[in-house]
Amino acid sequence: MLTLRGSRGPRCGAELNDLGVIPDGAVLVRDGVLQEVGPTRRIENLALARTALEINAAGRVLMPGFVDSHTHLLFPPPGGAESAADLARAVRATTAQRLEMRARAHLEAMARHGTTTVEVKSGCGPDESAETKILRVLSSLKRDHLDVVPTFLFRLPEGSGEEALHEAAEWTIRELLPKIRRRRLARFADILWNSDGPEPYRDFVRLLEAARGMGFGCKLHLERRRSEAALTAAVERFAVTVDHLEHAAPSDARLLAGSCTMATLLPCASFHSGRGDAPARALIDAGAAVAIASNFNPQHTPTLNMQTAMALGCLRMGMTAAEAISAATINGAHAVGRADHVGSLEPGKVADLLILNAPDYRDLARDFGMNLVHMTMKRGEFIYTEGEVSMARRPAQVFPEPVRAM
Ligand SMILES: [Zn+2]
Repeated sequence: MLTLRGSRGPRCGAELNDLGVIPDGAVLVRDGVLQEVGPTRRIENLALARTALEINAAGRVLMPGFVDSHTHLLFPPPGGAESAADLARAVRATTAQRLEMRARAHLEAMARHGTTTVEVKSGCGPDESAETKILRVLSSLKRDHLDVVPTFLFRLPEGSGEEALHEAAEWTIRELLPKIRRRRLARFADILWNSDGPEPYRDFVRLLEAARGMGFGCKLHLERRRSEAALTAAVERFAVTVDHLEHAAPSDARLLAGSCTMATLLPCASFHSGRGDAPARALIDAGAAVAIASNFNPQHTPTLNMQTAMALGCLRMGMTAAEAISAATINGAHAVGRADHVGSLEPGKVADLLILNAPDYRDLARDFGMNLVHMTMKRGEFIYTEGEVSMARRPAQVFPEPVRAM
Protein backbone atom coordinates (compact mmCIF):
# COMPACT_ATOMS: atom_id res chain seq x y z
CA MET A 1 0.00 0.00 0.00
CA LEU A 2 1.34 3.41 -1.00
CA THR A 3 0.02 5.97 1.49
CA LEU A 4 1.98 9.02 0.25
CA ARG A 5 1.72 10.35 3.82
CA GLY A 6 4.33 12.94 4.71
CA SER A 7 4.93 16.66 5.00
CA ARG A 8 2.03 19.07 4.50
CA GLY A 9 3.60 20.95 1.62
CA PRO A 10 4.34 19.81 -1.93
CA ARG A 11 7.01 17.10 -2.07
CA CYS A 12 10.26 18.29 -3.52
CA GLY A 13 13.68 16.88 -4.34
CA ALA A 14 14.45 13.63 -2.51
CA GLU A 15 11.06 13.64 -0.71
CA LEU A 16 9.46 12.64 -4.00
CA ASN A 17 10.91 9.16 -3.57
CA ASP A 18 9.14 8.53 -0.26
CA LEU A 19 5.81 6.85 -0.95
CA GLY A 20 5.03 5.94 2.68
CA VAL A 21 4.86 2.24 1.80
CA ILE A 22 3.11 -0.20 4.14
CA PRO A 23 3.95 -3.67 2.77
CA ASP A 24 0.78 -5.33 4.08
CA GLY A 25 -1.59 -2.44 4.51
CA ALA A 26 -5.32 -1.80 4.71
CA VAL A 27 -7.71 1.12 4.92
CA LEU A 28 -11.06 1.44 6.64
CA VAL A 29 -13.54 3.63 4.79
CA ARG A 30 -16.74 5.08 6.19
CA ASP A 31 -19.10 7.59 4.57
CA GLY A 32 -16.61 8.20 1.80
CA VAL A 33 -13.82 9.16 4.18
CA LEU A 34 -10.68 7.25 5.21
CA GLN A 35 -11.16 6.39 8.90
CA GLU A 36 -8.06 4.29 9.44
CA VAL A 37 -4.92 3.60 7.43
CA GLY A 38 -2.28 1.15 8.59
CA PRO A 39 -0.99 -2.43 8.76
CA THR A 40 -3.71 -4.98 7.92
CA ARG A 41 -3.37 -6.75 11.27
CA ARG A 42 -4.17 -3.57 13.20
CA ILE A 43 -7.05 -2.52 10.95
CA GLU A 44 -8.63 -6.01 11.07
CA ASN A 45 -8.76 -5.91 14.86
CA LEU A 46 -10.68 -2.63 15.03
CA ALA A 47 -14.27 -2.96 16.25
CA LEU A 48 -15.55 -1.01 13.24
CA ALA A 49 -13.77 -3.41 10.86
CA ARG A 50 -15.80 -6.38 12.05
CA THR A 51 -18.97 -5.18 10.36
CA ALA A 52 -17.23 -3.75 7.31
CA LEU A 53 -17.52 -5.11 3.80
CA GLU A 54 -14.14 -6.55 2.90
CA ILE A 55 -12.46 -5.95 -0.45
CA ASN A 56 -9.52 -8.26 -0.93
CA ALA A 57 -6.57 -6.59 -2.67
CA ALA A 58 -4.02 -9.28 -1.86
CA GLY A 59 -1.11 -9.32 -4.30
CA ARG A 60 -2.10 -5.93 -5.66
CA VAL A 61 -1.05 -2.32 -5.14
CA LEU A 62 -3.39 -0.03 -3.20
CA MET A 63 -2.73 3.68 -3.71
CA PRO A 64 -4.36 7.14 -3.95
CA GLY A 65 -6.29 8.04 -7.11
CA PHE A 66 -4.45 10.13 -9.69
CA VAL A 67 -4.88 13.90 -9.68
CA ASP A 68 -4.62 15.18 -13.24
CA SER A 69 -3.75 18.82 -12.61
CA HIS A 70 -3.58 20.14 -16.20
CA THR A 71 -6.06 19.32 -18.99
CA HIS A 72 -7.83 21.02 -21.89
CA LEU A 73 -10.65 18.50 -21.79
CA LEU A 74 -13.28 20.73 -23.39
CA PHE A 75 -11.27 21.42 -26.51
CA PRO A 76 -13.20 20.46 -29.67
CA PRO A 77 -12.35 17.17 -31.37
CA PRO A 78 -9.77 16.93 -34.20
CA GLY A 79 -10.44 19.03 -37.27
CA GLY A 80 -12.28 21.61 -35.20
CA ALA A 81 -10.04 24.34 -33.90
CA GLU A 82 -6.49 25.54 -33.99
CA SER A 83 -6.46 28.98 -32.40
CA ALA A 84 -8.29 30.54 -29.50
CA ALA A 85 -10.65 32.22 -31.99
CA ASP A 86 -11.47 28.86 -33.67
CA LEU A 87 -12.08 27.37 -30.26
CA ALA A 88 -14.42 30.20 -29.31
CA ARG A 89 -16.34 29.73 -32.57
CA ALA A 90 -16.62 25.98 -32.03
CA VAL A 91 -17.77 26.42 -28.43
CA ARG A 92 -20.41 28.99 -29.41
CA ALA A 93 -21.70 26.67 -32.16
CA THR A 94 -22.09 23.69 -29.80
CA THR A 95 -24.86 23.41 -27.23
CA ALA A 96 -23.86 23.29 -23.57
CA GLN A 97 -25.58 19.92 -23.38
CA ARG A 98 -23.39 18.51 -26.12
CA LEU A 99 -20.21 19.90 -24.56
CA GLU A 100 -21.27 18.37 -21.28
CA MET A 101 -21.97 14.99 -22.84
CA ARG A 102 -18.60 14.88 -24.55
CA ALA A 103 -16.79 15.99 -21.40
CA ARG A 104 -18.59 13.32 -19.41
CA ALA A 105 -17.40 10.62 -21.81
CA HIS A 106 -13.80 11.81 -21.30
CA LEU A 107 -14.25 11.90 -17.53
CA GLU A 108 -15.54 8.32 -17.57
CA ALA A 109 -12.50 7.22 -19.57
CA MET A 110 -10.31 9.01 -17.02
CA ALA A 111 -12.01 7.15 -14.15
CA ARG A 112 -11.28 3.85 -15.92
CA HIS A 113 -7.61 4.84 -15.97
CA GLY A 114 -7.49 5.80 -12.31
CA THR A 115 -7.96 9.58 -12.32
CA THR A 116 -10.22 10.77 -9.49
CA THR A 117 -9.61 14.55 -9.58
CA VAL A 118 -9.10 16.59 -12.73
CA GLU A 119 -8.36 20.22 -13.52
CA VAL A 120 -9.90 21.59 -16.74
CA LYS A 121 -8.98 24.86 -18.46
CA SER A 122 -11.01 27.23 -20.60
CA GLY A 123 -9.01 29.19 -23.21
CA CYS A 124 -11.26 30.74 -25.88
CA GLY A 125 -9.52 34.10 -25.89
CA PRO A 126 -11.31 37.37 -25.15
CA ASP A 127 -14.80 36.00 -25.83
CA GLU A 128 -17.10 36.32 -22.88
CA SER A 129 -19.91 34.06 -24.07
CA ALA A 130 -17.57 31.20 -25.04
CA GLU A 131 -15.49 31.47 -21.86
CA THR A 132 -18.57 31.61 -19.65
CA LYS A 133 -20.14 28.69 -21.49
CA ILE A 134 -17.09 26.48 -20.91
CA LEU A 135 -16.84 27.48 -17.25
CA ARG A 136 -20.57 26.89 -16.71
CA VAL A 137 -20.35 23.43 -18.27
CA LEU A 138 -17.43 22.71 -15.93
CA SER A 139 -19.53 23.87 -12.97
CA SER A 140 -22.30 21.46 -13.88
CA LEU A 141 -19.75 18.64 -14.11
CA LYS A 142 -18.63 19.37 -10.55
CA ARG A 143 -21.62 17.42 -9.29
CA ASP A 144 -20.42 14.29 -11.10
CA HIS A 145 -18.35 11.46 -9.74
CA LEU A 146 -14.95 12.94 -10.48
CA ASP A 147 -13.86 16.18 -8.86
CA VAL A 148 -13.51 18.79 -11.59
CA VAL A 149 -11.43 21.88 -10.80
CA PRO A 150 -12.13 24.67 -13.34
CA THR A 151 -9.39 27.07 -14.40
CA PHE A 152 -9.76 30.23 -16.45
CA LEU A 153 -7.06 30.19 -19.13
CA PHE A 154 -6.08 33.53 -20.65
CA ARG A 155 -5.10 32.58 -24.16
CA LEU A 156 -4.66 34.71 -27.26
CA PRO A 157 -3.82 33.45 -30.75
CA GLU A 158 -0.07 33.33 -31.45
CA GLY A 159 1.19 36.62 -32.86
CA SER A 160 -1.87 38.63 -31.82
CA GLY A 161 0.17 41.80 -31.61
CA GLU A 162 0.80 44.04 -28.65
CA GLU A 163 -2.28 46.17 -29.19
CA ALA A 164 -4.66 43.18 -29.19
CA LEU A 165 -2.97 41.70 -26.17
CA HIS A 166 -3.14 44.95 -24.26
CA GLU A 167 -6.83 45.38 -25.00
CA ALA A 168 -7.64 41.79 -24.14
CA ALA A 169 -5.70 41.99 -20.88
CA GLU A 170 -7.43 45.23 -19.85
CA TRP A 171 -10.88 43.83 -20.67
CA THR A 172 -10.13 40.58 -18.83
CA ILE A 173 -9.04 42.45 -15.71
CA ARG A 174 -11.91 44.93 -15.80
CA GLU A 175 -14.82 42.77 -16.97
CA LEU A 176 -14.24 39.05 -17.20
CA LEU A 177 -12.23 38.11 -14.10
CA PRO A 178 -14.53 39.92 -11.64
CA LYS A 179 -17.56 38.15 -13.20
CA ILE A 180 -15.90 34.75 -13.04
CA ARG A 181 -14.97 35.45 -9.45
CA ARG A 182 -18.44 36.61 -8.46
CA ARG A 183 -20.08 33.54 -9.99
CA ARG A 184 -17.37 31.28 -8.59
CA LEU A 185 -16.80 29.75 -12.01
CA ALA A 186 -13.07 29.15 -11.63
CA ARG A 187 -10.62 28.64 -8.84
CA PHE A 188 -7.45 29.32 -10.82
CA ALA A 189 -6.34 31.81 -13.43
CA ASP A 190 -3.76 30.50 -15.87
CA ILE A 191 -1.88 32.86 -18.17
CA LEU A 192 -0.54 31.55 -21.47
CA TRP A 193 2.67 33.46 -21.94
CA ASN A 194 3.42 33.67 -25.65
CA SER A 195 5.25 36.95 -26.12
CA ASP A 196 8.60 38.35 -25.17
CA GLY A 197 8.87 42.12 -25.56
CA PRO A 198 8.67 44.64 -22.70
CA GLU A 199 5.10 45.76 -23.49
CA PRO A 200 3.49 42.30 -23.37
CA TYR A 201 5.49 41.60 -20.23
CA ARG A 202 3.73 44.47 -18.46
CA ASP A 203 0.30 43.17 -19.56
CA PHE A 204 1.00 39.62 -18.41
CA VAL A 205 2.27 40.83 -15.04
CA ARG A 206 -0.78 43.05 -14.63
CA LEU A 207 -2.98 40.01 -15.34
CA LEU A 208 -1.10 37.88 -12.82
CA GLU A 209 -1.34 40.55 -10.16
CA ALA A 210 -5.02 41.33 -10.80
CA ALA A 211 -5.97 37.65 -10.70
CA ARG A 212 -4.06 37.14 -7.49
CA GLY A 213 -5.64 40.26 -5.99
CA MET A 214 -9.09 38.84 -6.71
CA GLY A 215 -8.23 35.61 -4.91
CA PHE A 216 -7.52 33.30 -7.84
CA GLY A 217 -4.68 30.82 -7.54
CA CYS A 218 -2.31 31.70 -10.40
CA LYS A 219 -0.71 29.45 -12.98
CA LEU A 220 1.59 30.15 -15.88
CA HIS A 221 1.50 28.30 -19.23
CA LEU A 222 5.09 28.44 -20.46
CA GLU A 223 4.83 26.32 -23.53
CA ARG A 224 6.33 27.71 -26.70
CA ARG A 225 9.46 29.44 -25.45
CA ARG A 226 11.70 29.97 -22.50
CA SER A 227 11.26 33.22 -20.62
CA GLU A 228 13.25 33.89 -17.53
CA ALA A 229 11.32 37.13 -17.03
CA ALA A 230 8.00 35.24 -17.07
CA LEU A 231 9.26 32.60 -14.70
CA THR A 232 10.63 35.21 -12.30
CA ALA A 233 7.37 37.16 -12.45
CA ALA A 234 5.40 34.01 -11.61
CA VAL A 235 7.68 32.96 -8.77
CA GLU A 236 7.73 36.45 -7.25
CA ARG A 237 3.94 36.59 -7.37
CA PHE A 238 3.57 33.20 -5.69
CA ALA A 239 2.08 31.38 -8.67
CA VAL A 240 0.94 27.91 -7.63
CA THR A 241 2.43 26.23 -10.69
CA VAL A 242 4.39 26.93 -13.85
CA ASP A 243 3.37 24.42 -16.52
CA HIS A 244 4.98 22.80 -19.59
CA LEU A 245 8.57 24.13 -19.24
CA GLU A 246 9.73 22.22 -22.31
CA HIS A 247 12.30 24.92 -22.97
CA ALA A 248 13.47 25.49 -19.41
CA ALA A 249 17.19 25.84 -18.63
CA PRO A 250 19.11 24.57 -15.58
CA SER A 251 19.06 28.07 -14.07
CA ASP A 252 15.24 27.96 -14.23
CA ALA A 253 15.37 24.80 -12.11
CA ARG A 254 17.33 26.66 -9.44
CA LEU A 255 14.86 29.54 -9.52
CA LEU A 256 11.90 27.19 -9.01
CA ALA A 257 13.70 25.13 -6.37
CA GLY A 258 14.06 28.15 -4.14
CA SER A 259 10.38 29.09 -4.43
CA CYS A 260 6.92 27.91 -3.46
CA THR A 261 5.93 27.53 -7.13
CA MET A 262 5.67 23.98 -8.46
CA ALA A 263 6.65 22.79 -11.94
CA THR A 264 3.98 20.83 -13.81
CA LEU A 265 5.50 18.35 -16.25
CA LEU A 266 3.46 17.27 -19.28
CA PRO A 267 5.39 14.48 -21.01
CA CYS A 268 2.43 13.49 -23.22
CA ALA A 269 2.43 17.00 -24.72
CA SER A 270 6.09 16.63 -25.75
CA PHE A 271 5.45 13.09 -26.97
CA HIS A 272 2.65 14.15 -29.32
CA SER A 273 4.21 17.40 -30.51
CA GLY A 274 7.67 15.93 -31.01
CA ARG A 275 9.15 18.84 -29.09
CA GLY A 276 11.70 18.28 -26.36
CA ASP A 277 10.90 17.25 -22.80
CA ALA A 278 10.98 19.48 -19.74
CA PRO A 279 14.20 18.98 -17.73
CA ALA A 280 12.57 16.85 -15.03
CA ARG A 281 15.85 15.52 -13.65
CA ALA A 282 17.42 18.98 -13.33
CA LEU A 283 14.27 20.28 -11.62
CA ILE A 284 14.07 17.44 -9.10
CA ASP A 285 17.83 17.36 -8.44
CA ALA A 286 17.82 21.11 -7.82
CA GLY A 287 15.09 20.52 -5.20
CA ALA A 288 11.99 21.76 -7.05
CA ALA A 289 8.51 20.35 -6.43
CA VAL A 290 7.06 18.74 -9.55
CA ALA A 291 3.64 17.51 -10.60
CA ILE A 292 2.85 15.31 -13.61
CA ALA A 293 -0.33 15.81 -15.61
CA SER A 294 -1.74 14.62 -18.93
CA ASN A 295 -2.35 17.93 -20.76
CA PHE A 296 -5.25 15.95 -22.27
CA ASN A 297 -6.73 17.74 -25.25
CA PRO A 298 -8.77 15.78 -27.83
CA GLN A 299 -6.96 17.64 -30.59
CA HIS A 300 -3.26 17.93 -29.73
CA THR A 301 -2.65 15.61 -26.78
CA PRO A 302 -5.23 12.82 -27.08
CA THR A 303 -3.87 10.88 -24.10
CA LEU A 304 -5.86 10.95 -20.88
CA ASN A 305 -4.18 8.00 -19.17
CA MET A 306 -2.08 9.33 -16.28
CA GLN A 307 -0.21 6.02 -16.22
CA THR A 308 1.08 6.81 -19.71
CA ALA A 309 2.19 10.26 -18.57
CA MET A 310 4.01 8.67 -15.62
CA ALA A 311 5.66 5.99 -17.76
CA LEU A 312 6.88 8.69 -20.18
CA GLY A 313 8.17 10.67 -17.20
CA CYS A 314 10.26 7.62 -16.30
CA LEU A 315 11.23 6.33 -19.73
CA ARG A 316 12.00 9.65 -21.40
CA MET A 317 12.64 12.13 -18.59
CA GLY A 318 14.64 9.93 -16.22
CA MET A 319 12.25 10.05 -13.26
CA THR A 320 11.98 7.15 -10.85
CA ALA A 321 8.65 5.34 -10.49
CA ALA A 322 8.28 6.77 -6.98
CA GLU A 323 8.92 10.34 -8.16
CA ALA A 324 6.35 9.95 -10.92
CA ILE A 325 3.77 8.60 -8.46
CA SER A 326 4.30 11.44 -5.97
CA ALA A 327 4.03 13.91 -8.87
CA ALA A 328 0.76 12.33 -10.09
CA THR A 329 -0.95 12.09 -6.68
CA ILE A 330 -0.03 14.30 -3.73
CA ASN A 331 1.73 16.99 -5.77
CA GLY A 332 -1.08 17.01 -8.32
CA ALA A 333 -3.41 17.63 -5.38
CA HIS A 334 -1.26 20.59 -4.30
CA ALA A 335 -1.29 21.90 -7.87
CA VAL A 336 -5.11 22.13 -7.78
CA GLY A 337 -5.39 23.31 -4.16
CA ARG A 338 -6.98 20.06 -2.95
CA ALA A 339 -4.13 18.54 -0.93
CA ASP A 340 -6.08 18.81 2.33
CA HIS A 341 -8.66 16.40 0.90
CA VAL A 342 -7.02 14.13 -1.69
CA GLY A 343 -3.64 12.95 -2.99
CA SER A 344 -2.68 10.57 -0.16
CA LEU A 345 -4.19 7.83 1.97
CA GLU A 346 -4.43 9.42 5.42
CA PRO A 347 -7.23 9.39 8.00
CA GLY A 348 -9.69 12.22 7.41
CA LYS A 349 -9.03 12.46 3.68
CA VAL A 350 -11.55 11.54 1.02
CA ALA A 351 -11.49 7.83 0.10
CA ASP A 352 -10.21 8.27 -3.47
CA LEU A 353 -8.12 5.24 -4.20
CA LEU A 354 -6.98 2.67 -6.71
CA ILE A 355 -6.33 -1.02 -6.67
CA LEU A 356 -3.81 -1.89 -9.39
CA ASN A 357 -3.70 -5.14 -11.22
CA ALA A 358 0.01 -5.29 -10.48
CA PRO A 359 2.07 -6.71 -7.63
CA ASP A 360 4.61 -3.87 -7.68
CA TYR A 361 4.10 -0.11 -8.11
CA ARG A 362 7.23 0.06 -10.25
CA ASP A 363 5.26 -1.60 -13.05
CA LEU A 364 3.72 1.85 -13.60
CA ALA A 365 7.12 3.12 -14.78
CA ARG A 366 7.56 0.33 -17.27
CA ASP A 367 4.21 -0.76 -18.67
CA PHE A 368 3.90 2.03 -21.21
CA GLY A 369 0.42 2.45 -22.70
CA MET A 370 -1.18 -0.14 -20.40
CA ASN A 371 -4.05 0.24 -18.00
CA LEU A 372 -3.10 -1.37 -14.70
CA VAL A 373 -6.19 -0.14 -12.85
CA HIS A 374 -8.26 -2.94 -11.34
CA MET A 375 -10.67 -0.76 -9.37
CA THR A 376 -11.19 3.00 -8.92
CA MET A 377 -12.83 4.26 -5.74
CA LYS A 378 -14.16 7.82 -5.51
CA ARG A 379 -15.51 9.09 -2.19
CA GLY A 380 -15.78 5.53 -0.90
CA GLU A 381 -17.65 4.21 -3.93
CA PHE A 382 -16.24 1.96 -6.62
CA ILE A 383 -16.86 3.89 -9.81
CA TYR A 384 -14.89 1.50 -11.99
CA THR A 385 -14.18 -2.22 -11.78
CA GLU A 386 -12.10 -3.99 -14.39
CA GLY A 387 -14.30 -6.18 -16.57
CA GLU A 388 -13.82 -9.87 -17.03
CA VAL A 389 -12.62 -11.23 -20.33
CA SER A 390 -14.56 -14.25 -21.43
CA MET A 391 -12.12 -16.75 -22.81
CA ALA A 392 -14.85 -19.35 -23.07
CA ARG A 393 -13.57 -22.84 -23.52
CA ARG A 394 -15.11 -23.14 -26.94
CA PRO A 395 -13.92 -25.97 -29.11
CA ALA A 396 -11.20 -24.76 -31.40
CA GLN A 397 -12.58 -23.55 -34.67
CA VAL A 398 -12.56 -26.42 -37.12
CA PHE A 399 -12.30 -25.86 -40.83
CA PRO A 400 -13.65 -28.60 -43.07
CA GLU A 401 -10.61 -28.43 -45.26
CA PRO A 402 -7.12 -27.21 -44.67
CA VAL A 403 -7.01 -23.45 -45.05
CA ARG A 404 -4.64 -22.20 -47.63
CA ALA A 405 -3.43 -18.66 -47.54
CA MET A 406 -3.73 -17.04 -50.95
ZN1 LIG B 1 -1.59 22.92 -21.63
